Amino acid sequence: MVNQFEICPICGEGHLNQQVDKNNVEYNGRSCLLDSHYSVCDSCGSEQASPIQTRDNKRAMLAFKKEVDGLLTGADIRALRTRLGINQNKAAAIFGGGPVAFSKYENDDVVQSDPMDKLLRVADEFPAVFSALAKKAEVQLSNPIYAQINSAQYVSSVELVKLENENPAAKRPQLRLVSSFKPPLQASSKEWVSQSSLINVSR
Ligand SMILES: [Zn+2]
Repeated sequence: MVNQFEICPICGEGHLNQQVDKNNVEYNGRSCLLDSHYSVCDSCGSEQASPIQTRDNKRAMLAFKKEVDGLLTGADIRALRTRLGINQNKAAAIFGGGPVAFSKYENDDVVQSDPMDKLLRVADEFPAVFSALAKKAEVQLSNPIYAQINSAQYVSSVELVKLENENPAAKRPQLRLVSSFKPPLQASSKEWVSQSSLINVSR
């Protein structure tokens, strides 16, 4: 945080005082009041934003844009990851995006891709999918619910099938995610349960 006794870099004499204003911003036809952080010098009166204040302002704007675009916000992703019982490193190992991807998503420094957004929602909705992805990435899951189905005995396959030719009218390529598994309570059943989700990929 910027210290309120910081010396003004412009006049070299005054002290900077932090301020927060409400700023009306618009994006894609929606408006919102966002906090705007800056500092004012008590001597020369100049207004300035430190790198940290600028970063916070950008994060607030990016979170608003994600919401308008129908994407998970940083707070949504943090909540989802917490529900799945994994830290940011494990999330990156399971879902991809690079070692600091989840720190950037959750802090609203970066907008996750559309496919990443959909993959997170699917993994959150279908435990067998999440379990199989974790297994493939060789990530141990501590949540007992997932540990229970994180076993080859229950999960038969997870396939990501590209459907580029299936629907030529589709403007974007689509992926079909199919997972086959036996629910733990019906493990003795001979029937596999299959779940299938369509994922639209944007480029
Ligand atoms: Zn000054």
